[in-house]
Amino acid sequence: MGFPWRGRLEHGVALRESRTVRIVPEYAGRGHQFGTWQLVQLLERAAERVEQRLPGARLSVGEISAEAGGHLDGHRSHQSGRDADVGFYMTDARGRPYEGIAFAEFGADGVGLGGNRMLRFDDARNWELVGKLVADGDARVQHIFVSNALERRLLREGRRRRAPQTVLDRAARVMSQPGHHPHRNHFHVRVYCNPAERGACRDRAPFHSWYPGRPPHQGS
Ligand SMILES: [Zn+2]
Repeated sequence: MGFPWRGRLEHGVALRESRTVRIVPEYAGRGHQFGTWQLVQLLERAAERVEQRLPGARLSVGEISAEAGGHLDGHRSHQSGRDADVGFYMTDARGRPYEGIAFAEFGADGVGLGGNRMLRFDDARNWELVGKLVADGDARVQHIFVSNALERRLLREGRRRRAPQTVLDRAARVMSQPGHHPHRNHFHVRVYCNPAERGACRDRAPFHSWYPGRPPHQGS
């Protein structure tokens, strides 16, 4: 209901840990893993896809929304169940999947920053994730916030893996680095409102070409 930055959540669905999904321990205790069913299922489908293509690692999820939505400490949005923080797939220096207790920051070279220099940004799995998120036909992704440097790495990986041009184009449109937070340590994923809930659920620009149906009037 409402906007991602001024809204609440009705009928929120809890994202559960599974064979392919984990909650990052730093964020597990607060129980803020409630989202719309579209978003929760999208994350589950994306995790499943990555596991099929590149087995051996789980998707790392941080906070989504509180059970009834509303303000979450440390976030501007995350109020209406349509935003999820997703940790990067990462490996150790020998390429083995690594599950951290918290998010880890990565620079343009894909090496962990600060105390995480032994970690590597998992280009292959992170690209599979982004490619699946933007190509999903049911939940339509509006934003993936991530640093410009990591966006460039991901698009390069997508081209290297010969991803379809439409997927590369969508990924390039959806990924961006917001001004207030560079997102060097996680993806922030936002989906558009479920078309059946529009009216109560409010979308704002940008309206990409894959927006389902007709975009609402600006500012209405
Ligand atoms: Zn976020």
